[in-house]
Amino acid sequence: MDTEHLIANWQQVSEQVAQACAQAGHNDTDNKVILLAVSKTKPAAMVATLAQQGQRDFGENYLQEAIEKITALKNEPACADIVWHYIGSIQRNKTRDIAEHFDWVQTLERDIIAKRLNEQRPENMPPLNVLIQVNIDDEDSKSGCRPEELSALIGTIKSYERLQLRGLMIIPAKEGSEAFTRTQQLFAAIKQQHPELVAWDTLSMGMSNDMADAIANGSTMVRVGTAIFGARG
Ligand SMILES: *Cc1c(COP(=O)(O)O)cnc(C)c1O
Repeated sequence: MDTEHLIANWQQVSEQVAQACAQAGHNDTDNKVILLAVSKTKPAAMVATLAQQGQRDFGENYLQEAIEKITALKNEPACADIVWHYIGSIQRNKTRDIAEHFDWVQTLERDIIAKRLNEQRPENMPPLNVLIQVNIDDEDSKSGCRPEELSALIGTIKSYERLQLRGLMIIPAKEGSEAFTRTQQLFAAIKQQHPELVAWDTLSMGMSNDMADAIANGSTMVRVGTAIFGARG
């Protein structure tokens, strides 16, 4: 894809996010919903192009590829304040790399991983922002913690000083807003039950095909790959 086309896609998606926010009753200045540009499998040059346009948050799924991009872009002035989100599945032996390179992790689902990230987050970096991925439709094949395990997991994660628990992330089983509504209720209930979670502000749900629906149902972060970067591989 050429640069012009990439920028046009990004502008269009940004516009759609703004419209969905307006319809959901957020005003423009709120900046309530963050657009996460999911750049997996796409080259560092595309990330740099969008960073120059003002896109700040990028999501990556594959660790090796992500570290190469993060390293390559580190010294580019326009990329200095990119916020990197890890949204792939987490293998136990890869937690150190994640803790050392990312600003956010959205796919936390087990205490053993949280514990390792907490121990391995470097002292000279701010606490790692984390979202718990919830298997909201209770599918056997899906990652994410089961809703009934959530309470215990929150209890342990909140004691980890090098992690900052920000909220929840979901990938629903099927189209339609039913899972979004349920997750919104869960997110609000946790906020009410846990006033000590002062940074509990992020509900990551919605992708290229359903972002407006997700925003209408309380999403504060949409993760968009294809609609910005084009089809993968
Ligand atoms: C790849 C991916 C996305 C982006 O999906 P698109 O359909 O390309 O917008 C969002 N979230 C997660 C967790 C992903 O792995």
